Amino acid sequence: MAGGWRVARIAGADIRVRPSLLLMGVILVIVFAPQFESLGAGPNPYLTAVVFVLSLYVSVFLHELAHLAAARWFGMRVPMVELHLLGGETHIEGDSRHPWQELATSIVGPLASLVIGMAALWGAQASDGATRSVLWSVGFINVLIAIFNMLPGLPLDGGRVLRALIWALTGSEAKGVRIAGWIGRLAALALVAISVAMMFGEDTFAIGRALLLLAVALFLWQGASYALKQGVVLARLGSLTAQGLMREEEPPVGAVPISVELAGRDLLVAMAENPSNAYALVDDRGAVVGTLFASTVDRAYREAG
Ligand SMILES: [Zn+2]
Repeated sequence: MAGGWRVARIAGADIRVRPSLLLMGVILVIVFAPQFESLGAGPNPYLTAVVFVLSLYVSVFLHELAHLAAARWFGMRVPMVELHLLGGETHIEGDSRHPWQELATSIVGPLASLVIGMAALWGAQASDGATRSVLWSVGFINVLIAIFNMLPGLPLDGGRVLRALIWALTGSEAKGVRIAGWIGRLAALALVAISVAMMFGEDTFAIGRALLLLAVALFLWQGASYALKQGVVLARLGSLTAQGLMREEEPPVGAVPISVELAGRDLLVAMAENPSNAYALVDDRGAVVGTLFASTVDRAYREAG
């Protein structure tokens, strides 16, 4: 999982830079320098392109920082923020997430990109030469990032927003994952189609842009597929309740008491924190109501989904 270089640690999160980010930086400089040159932007188009790529990376980092800040605000753990080939990813761990927290944490990223993009475009109007070209490009791409990320398919931010909305409306996180995951896959297929169409384009960079789009499509497909797999786990977890798996018998000696109200992920966490073969299920007044065997939960998990 953890490749690349750790460049900083912010609010408990390792900020990691993947080697693919540098590769993409070099490609972007090579692709953009001639375009800056044709615009007559500054004396050295390569220097302009380097400044542009660095500004772009800073804005991508700010997008991820917005996710990080929101997640930390809600008390979620964020072990890592990754910056890679296609931007960044904020890894959030949280057991007691609520759909509205999920929605807020997801939407702040694209909002940050939109604000940065509009600010850069506004700045471009008030400047000239190389500064104007860099600001205009950074502004345009940030607005594009904001729009693209709000597509309602996983693993994009918009997909997370859709998942949160379905979760809030139906009470089923697994259903949200399934729908947003499939939309993510459809978006990936659409990008493949667009990319194939672009390969027949006339201009010099058509193939390069088409390949870049193909890389984005692959990233989307993989992310959506991973989310769908997690959806299966979620659905399995959702089907587990202490009540449903309880045996109405006296708990054996040494059984660990846990609440009969536990279900899903919370149930597994409670069991993992107190490893035992058997649990005494207690109601909210502390009275033992039955026994839960670890082997029953194990079997139910494997048979579910
Ligand atoms: Zn994001």
